[in-house]
Amino acid sequence: MMCPEHSARCACRDWDYRKFDDKKHTKAKFRSKMLLARLRSGEVPERIYLKDTRPVHKALFEGMTAKGCGYFAGNYRGSRDCLIDYDVTIGFDRRGEVIGTTAASNVAVEMDALHAEISADIKSYFSEQSSEEVAAVEADVSKPAEGDVEAGGGIADGDVDEDTFIKNLDIALEHMVNLMIIHPYANGNGHVGRFLLFCFLSLMGLAVEDWPLDERPPEPYDFFIARFREGFPNELRQFVIEQIIGDE
Ligand SMILES: [Zn+2]
Ligand SMILES: [Zn+2]
Repeated sequence: MMCPEHSARCACRDWDYRKFDDKKHTKAKFRSKMLLARLRSGEVPERIYLKDTRPVHKALFEGMTAKGCGYFAGNYRGSRDCLIDYDVTIGFDRRGEVIGTTAASNVAVEMDALHAEISADIKSYFSEQSSEEVAAVEADVSKPAEGDVEAGGGIADGDVDEDTFIKNLDIALEHMVNLMIIHPYANGNGHVGRFLLFCFLSLMGLAVEDWPLDERPPEPYDFFIARFREGFPNELRQFVIEQIIGDE
């Protein structure tokens, strides 16, 4: 596909941020660490990041773009100039068919829909549920102990509802995978997708130990994503849980 800005060959096609970093990808790695630190410190609330990923993409890749096209960092495919008609395929499926991503012209609409879904899910599964839980714990604690009911039992360590955790993790994974299918950016979608997941985990009070933002997870990660898309969430879910536990 031809870029409308440059009738012949456009230097922005096949943009790869790594070509603008040093060999060890120091810049991208450092920025990833900074971003995660900011998330962990609570300096920027997760909800802000989950509303719009473009500032995250910009923070990661600013200045690592072709000359004159700095807007590649922090803007969707289809949004302007060399990004108009910037369509992307992401390899082949098991039948050898090209896996397409969302057409550039449709990215903004689909991302708006994705963020609307995320906001709705946070409302119904994360914040409201946790404020209900807080209310329940408060009621439990203020209740005078009677019979064999232990006072304050509701806030005991290890009182984690595993079913709720798995349900919420699946919601987060679905949003991450959907972002990767839309593929809103010309490059760096994996970083942004993982960051989205980290934001959800952070909402659940968790941090991944072993899965840096800046590195593509080891195989068979891509296969697990494909399986998730086919309706089999177990492998990807298990993979992420292992990363949360870390090496112990
Ligand atoms: Zn350009
Ligand atoms: Zn161009």
